[in-house]
Amino acid sequence: MARHISYNIFRILQDLDDGVLRHTIWMKNVHRALVCDAGSINQDDIDTQAHHRCEFGKWYDRVDQAELLNEPSFARIGELHRNMHLATGILLRQRQTGGDAMIADYDQFINGAIDFKMEVRHLQFKLMKEVCAVDHLTGAWNRQTMYYKLDEEYERFLRARTPCCVTMIDIDHFKNVNDTHGHPAGDRVLQSVCTLLKSSLRRYDTVFRYGGEEFLICLPDSDIKQTTKMLERLRSALETMPFELDDGTVLTITASFGVAKMDEEKSLDELIEQADRALLCAKAEGRNSVLALIATQNGERFVALKLDNA
Ligand code: GH3
Ligand code: MG
Ligand code: MG
Repeated sequence: MARHISYNIFRILQDLDDGVLRHTIWMKNVHRALVCDAGSINQDDIDTQAHHRCEFGKWYDRVDQAELLNEPSFARIGELHRNMHLATGILLRQRQTGGDAMIADYDQFINGAIDFKMEVRHLQFKLMKEVCAVDHLTGAWNRQTMYYKLDEEYERFLRARTPCCVTMIDIDHFKNVNDTHGHPAGDRVLQSVCTLLKSSLRRYDTVFRYGGEEFLICLPDSDIKQTTKMLERLRSALETMPFELDDGTVLTITASFGVAKMDEEKSLDELIEQADRALLCAKAEGRNSVLALIATQNGERFVALKLDNA
């Protein structure tokens, strides 16, 4: 499941970038002192706590780690940063006391700096990938990621031949929420709907923000009947869920659901289009319902059937 991207991630990316830049400048000064000017050695760099004193270390110590606690890379960066400063301290002390630097110490210093920089880049790249794949408002996967992940599910469906359904969900009369309570209230409703979707589905179901107030979910290993049952529970949970706004107003909302089943003769675009058609039927029939497209006797035409209480 996609994790929610907060704007803090953008700040962390910026800070990591600044940190790497500052470290490059710091490296230049360390080298200058090592090679030609022992007098310019910064005493902070010799201290065993140097990794807390440099700008990157100060940032690392105070950054809101809630976003990064599950990132093993973040802990590793701290460790590599400390090791790099310890190796630097050893070299600079040797230089200050007039001794020659040992090759092994120099290697440790330079390898420490490279390892640190590589790990920062690794984390930056991982966070960038998340930023690009996730819808920032709701934390659902975004539409670009949807095509990639649906392709994977389609391949799996062709291999394993287990049923897989796709559902298009559209919040009913959502424009009224914005018009009556304002856009920020609408945003919070979208976030809560997405949270409900994620918490009500199975671990391997996937929620995408298709656009606006529309979500698409992919339900592997689930035929039309199982999917419809699951969605009926979801529809009914949504209809009774109170949304409390900042001004104390309590809203209830509903959504319409259109279901279509993967088929080897159907492209992904056709599958999504069929789920969308089922959704339009649900809207036309009065909203707040789950409709599925199923094959009729002649096997060619598809009709929308209401399967509530299935
Ligand atoms: P229907 O039941 O037919 O779906 O009616 P509706 O009002 O939900 O549909 P309509 O397409 O008329 O309006 C969708 C609204 O969703 C209009 C648009 O401003 C709003 N919307 C789209 N994206 C966002 C968003 O990110 N935040 C907020 N607050 N509103 C959004
Ligand atoms: Mg819509
Ligand atoms: Mg709508």
